[in-house]
Amino acid sequence: MKKYIMALDQGTTSSRCILFDKDGVARYTAQREFPQIFKIDGWVEHDPLTIWSTQAAVATEALMMAGSSFSEVYAVGITNQRETCIAWNKKTGEPVYNAIVWQCRRTAEYCEQLRSEGYASFIKEKTGLLIDPYFSATKLKWMLDNVEGLRELAERGELAFGTVDSWLIYKLTGGKRHVTDVSNASRTMLFNLHTMQYDSELLSLFGIPKDTLPEVLPSSSVFGYTDPSLFGAEVPIAAVLGDQQAALFGQCCFASGDVKNTYGTGAFLLMNVGKTPRVTRDGLLTTVGWQIGDEVTYALEGSVFTCGAAIQWLRDGMKLIESAPDSEYYARKVKDSGGVIVVPAFTGLGAPCWDPYARGLIIGINRGTTKNHIIRATLESLAYQTNDVITLMREASGLEVSTLRVDGGASQNSLLLQIQADLSDTVIERPAFAESTALGCAMLAGLTVGLYSSLDEISALRKDTTAFTPCMSQDERERLLSAWCRARDRALGWANP
Ligand code: ADP
Repeated sequence: MKKYIMALDQGTTSSRCILFDKDGVARYTAQREFPQIFKIDGWVEHDPLTIWSTQAAVATEALMMAGSSFSEVYAVGITNQRETCIAWNKKTGEPVYNAIVWQCRRTAEYCEQLRSEGYASFIKEKTGLLIDPYFSATKLKWMLDNVEGLRELAERGELAFGTVDSWLIYKLTGGKRHVTDVSNASRTMLFNLHTMQYDSELLSLFGIPKDTLPEVLPSSSVFGYTDPSLFGAEVPIAAVLGDQQAALFGQCCFASGDVKNTYGTGAFLLMNVGKTPRVTRDGLLTTVGWQIGDEVTYALEGSVFTCGAAIQWLRDGMKLIESAPDSEYYARKVKDSGGVIVVPAFTGLGAPCWDPYARGLIIGINRGTTKNHIIRATLESLAYQTNDVITLMREASGLEVSTLRVDGGASQNSLLLQIQADLSDTVIERPAFAESTALGCAMLAGLTVGLYSSLDEISALRKDTTAFTPCMSQDERERLLSAWCRARDRALGWANP
């Protein structure tokens, strides 16, 4: 008897497994953190074998909690930290270097060089991405150039590259499959959004042999089967999505114009823009949302570097609060920020300013300013920054944003969501079950194996949402947003006098 859909959620700091029942209810969860490896300032690595062992362990743990086994699993869905890449030997299955994590800045200089050689629009046009060390291509090139013996291995046809999803599938299938999905492929900076294939000009620009890369499949496909000799049963791996795309799917953003925001350490906004890639020139990324059958859904993506991290700063740096949820308690003690604006540009500002030299500021302080005003202003900064990205998305897509679906740690803050509704003139919808990422890959896996017959059926499973509706006058909104813009612009260029 089949009972569960297994979501494997391989994140940056932990590996998780959630067993969902057919109704999309999370029944059992297991999670393990793993070490971050910082060898050199700005470098971030993971041990691929630890990624695998923690992921396999949580799968077993969740099944044990359920008193179940792989034979009761309908399908496995995988969602993963994006862009992080792993290299392994096709013959032995052994990793040949640590995973280079998306956050790793080791290729910053090379990216600078690419920009100065004028490749920005060439790359943006093909991939929808900005030249940045985040994306996999320059990390793969770095491995080929710097890891001893790697190029020879590639020449002998024995080198496999992959993002984390590929690596997990390789291990789950006992080394039988070297595949990835379109959403992960679209983050490599080697994948052409228009042809939906690796781009030969980009492969030659970065010197990456095509046969080192995984075959790219639609997100809703059977990527392979779990190896019965390892797991006791052959279960289809039936969905793969990068984490942010999985959250977009898990929030049921199935229609053009649907947007979700994940308020985590940083914030990630994705907007479904439908069936054609809209490559924009304003600092937003264009990316693949997912592919079901022949139909590709594209998304616009914008991020805020410092979101929940600003609340951590209130707690750990300023010691104004003891825990993140305290921010709501203190912010509610005042009716507004008393004219104070906090711009948490701790590591520069992203869209729409794109200024690595911007630094944080607190402005508008007067003799009446209290701790509670500063806390409230910091909380408001999460909403202002999110609103900046929503505004760009509205402009770039020409689509209305009437609802914003939210998840992530700081989405538990109801005051923040009310402020967001007011500033963005948008209904904010928070689902009771906040793990949209795991839910998204589980629902897609269910669709692939025929547990659900349509996206509508999946949408119907989405219930128990809390809505926050705007109740601010247009005049007041304009006054506040204009003050925010003035404050934000004063933060620009500070570290580069
Ligand atoms: P990540 O996945 O990026 O680690 P999470 O989604 O777990 O992040 O969210 C954690 C972040 O959310 C932290 O930065 C924390 O400060 C913030 N956070 C958590 N709860 C609240 C809250 N009630 N109000 C405001 N911020 C919060």
